[in-house]
Amino acid sequence: MDFALTDEQKMFKETVKKFTEESIAPYCEEADLKGEFSREAWQQLGEFGLLSLHFPEEYGGQDSDALTACIAGEALGEGGADGGLVLAMGAHTYLCGDTILNNGTAAQKEKYLPKLASGEWIGCMGLTEPDAGSDAAAISTTAVKEGDRYILNGTKTFITNGPLAEVAVIFAVTNKEAGHFGVSAFLVDKGTPGFEAGKKMNKLGVRSSTTSELFMDEVEIPVENLLGQEGTGFIIALHALEWDRSALLAPFVGAMNRALSDCANYAIVRKQFGRSIADFQAIQHKIADMKVFVEAARLLVYRVAWNKDQGKDLNHMEASIAKLFVGDWGMPVASEAVQIHGGYGFMHEYPVERLFRDVKLAQIGGGTSEIQRMIIARMLKERAS
Ligand SMILES: Cc1cc2nc3c(=O)[nH]c(=O)nc-3n(C[C@H](O)[C@H](O)[C@H](O)COP(=O)(O)OP(=O)(O)OC[C@H]3O[C@@H](n4cnc5c(N)ncnc54)[C@H](O)[C@@H]3O)c2cc1C
Repeated sequence: MDFALTDEQKMFKETVKKFTEESIAPYCEEADLKGEFSREAWQQLGEFGLLSLHFPEEYGGQDSDALTACIAGEALGEGGADGGLVLAMGAHTYLCGDTILNNGTAAQKEKYLPKLASGEWIGCMGLTEPDAGSDAAAISTTAVKEGDRYILNGTKTFITNGPLAEVAVIFAVTNKEAGHFGVSAFLVDKGTPGFEAGKKMNKLGVRSSTTSELFMDEVEIPVENLLGQEGTGFIIALHALEWDRSALLAPFVGAMNRALSDCANYAIVRKQFGRSIADFQAIQHKIADMKVFVEAARLLVYRVAWNKDQGKDLNHMEASIAKLFVGDWGMPVASEAVQIHGGYGFMHEYPVERLFRDVKLAQIGGGTSEIQRMIIARMLKERAS
């Protein structure tokens, strides 16, 4: 088994990292502080091709594989892109764009993908509802077919890019009796009468991404806006969640690697008791733990992408392990990164402060740590019985 990146992949990673340092990072600190989405940074991502890496060229993409998407994500994090921007990118490219790519008709792909690839349009995906988060099968948004239209009613919440998106992938119940097989996916365009985004929510971390509710009140959409077949919505959502639990985590790995070198450098220059704090074993152990985290997290995240590239469909176990590890092990490691910086680490000027706030989302979004443990345990139980 070869764990090394090819020369081409290494060069690509360096190119994305350099681009991020020069063209993206300068916008990030202010965007995070103000809790504002940076259109400038978004445009740069689109122009560089990072919003559509794995889309086919005919739709404005780069025809890359999932591993390349992870390499780009890691390089963005390492180059200083903030968690909000990379979350907005993930929701747009993977949760919305990839869902259209894999399930859309030729007409749907032609209509949406080129504009999503360039960044001219922003996409989002609405699964979560006020009363249905972890229990996604309990969603109550309905889509009722009347002739050549579907009528949608319901509310989605915590939707990344919700206030900005030109197109939303919306999951709704089409057959209440059919349980998981009664959910379908739809494309809803901004401006459709009855479809409104709520106010932008103010958040602990990933602050430069926009998050809101989406309200649907008698929203009429043509039957052509059904994505995939009726009743396949839950399977479609599972594919999106697999991205949520792999490529979307890669920027956290990169950001943690950057924090590792920041911490190592800081520990050498910061002197207390007449010596570098790097001379103290307590600090050395924290840095060693960070290094172990980065190496292990990278392998777990890349494994999901590699499996996808080998044609292995839906890697629930591997994706849940990666997601759980990045969230539950990443959180204490980020806390220690702040600790190494002492009082300075608590200050906004030091990137570890932002990382600490951003990483918390890895324990919640795309399925909480408790749910990842539940999936892993359930699969182990099934295999044992
Ligand atoms: C910044 C942000 C961006 C998001 N973006 C999107 C998006 O773009 N699209 C989208 O659809 N959703 C999005 N979400 C929603 C996210 O996926 C949900 O918040 C998440 O799945 C948890 O659901 P919940 O918030 O309703 O928590 P709940 O499900 O209410 O969970 C509350 C607590 O109970 C625990 N719990 C629940 N059930 C169990 C159980 N069976 N066993 C043990 N513990 C349990 C949970 O682990 C958690 O600790 C986003 C969330 C955030 C915070």
